[in-house]
Amino acid sequence: MRITSIEGFNLSSPLERPFGWSNGWIPARVVDLVKIETDEGITGWGEGYVGAGGSFVKQHFGDVLIDADPRNRNLLWQQMFARVYNGNNAGGFGCSAISAVDIALWDIAGKAAGLSVSDLLGGRIRDKVAVYATGLYYTEGEFPTRLLDEAAMYVELGFKGMKTKVGGLPIAEDVRRVAAIRDVIGDDLRLMVDANQAYPAAAAIRIGRQLEDLDITWFEEPVNAKDVDAYLQVKSAISMPVAGGENLRTRYEFKDFFARRAYDIVQPDVINAGGITEMRNIAMSANANGILVNPHVWGSPVMIAASLHLAATIPPCPPAYDPRPYEQEPVMEFDRTPSGIREGITAEPFDQQDGYLAVPTGAGLGIDIDEDAVRRLASG
Ligand code: MG
Repeated sequence: MRITSIEGFNLSSPLERPFGWSNGWIPARVVDLVKIETDEGITGWGEGYVGAGGSFVKQHFGDVLIDADPRNRNLLWQQMFARVYNGNNAGGFGCSAISAVDIALWDIAGKAAGLSVSDLLGGRIRDKVAVYATGLYYTEGEFPTRLLDEAAMYVELGFKGMKTKVGGLPIAEDVRRVAAIRDVIGDDLRLMVDANQAYPAAAAIRIGRQLEDLDITWFEEPVNAKDVDAYLQVKSAISMPVAGGENLRTRYEFKDFFARRAYDIVQPDVINAGGITEMRNIAMSANANGILVNPHVWGSPVMIAASLHLAATIPPCPPAYDPRPYEQEPVMEFDRTPSGIREGITAEPFDQQDGYLAVPTGAGLGIDIDEDAVRRLASG
């Protein structure tokens, strides 16, 4: 089998109401997709972080990929990595572009073999993956009614956990917001907070201590994503688990964080970290170091499917007779903020039941992409 063409799509879907996080306001949902075609009529879809999926792939990897056998994923990963490694681009768009291609290659390999991606990875440990709702962002005039209605809705839908943002407001206001959510959802559900790198270590410790009485399951990206010493400072000063890793790429960037135990929970992102090939390496390295792997997912059904196949194969940490989500089992992020892309490019959008997402059973990623919808969203 040979690769005959690569096409990139930059999708955009405006939001009716922008929402905010510690880095600013989000006016539209955006996703980059890659479509790879073969001489046997099998097509694969991949996803990369914005800016990685389109012309970057063609420009840097075109001659590596065209005419190559798409099933040869290990070799193609190395060849693509060599292209960006020497150019010092692997830490940014380069590895996101590798991720997009790699996911599409796994999709093709699965379709060619008649096996799902999780089957190709050696088979599933679980057929469904525990998920939590990501939402509860900042919106104009939101507090308390809109925010607390959203939290109550996730309870109603059967979620066992949810995540909100901190770092966008003064600490006292963020603490009030989180406390109000805890009050609405009760004591039995999991609640997580995500600062998206907003704080220096001292401020992260300050808010972390103020949140300790609210039974927070983890504090995500409290400090700069690359600052391993700041992570260690925060982790040693607060009682709640510390999570991070969505902004790191390749096993090389995760190495010191694992060796120095800078995380309790790592959240690699399949469309940034290096695709399915490299995320598997990262997940197994974390597992060996006693660090839970809870995949970061904020994208289209391509990313959701790729993450589900991976999460289905990640062993409990540590091995346990009856592993439970949040304790030994992986828990996956399930973005519930508005997205015309997430809901619009497959006939049936992913939906959870009782706090779990089923792992797709079809060949490859196991999803049918509506290419007309992709082209419509890419032309806006
Ligand atoms: Mg996050």
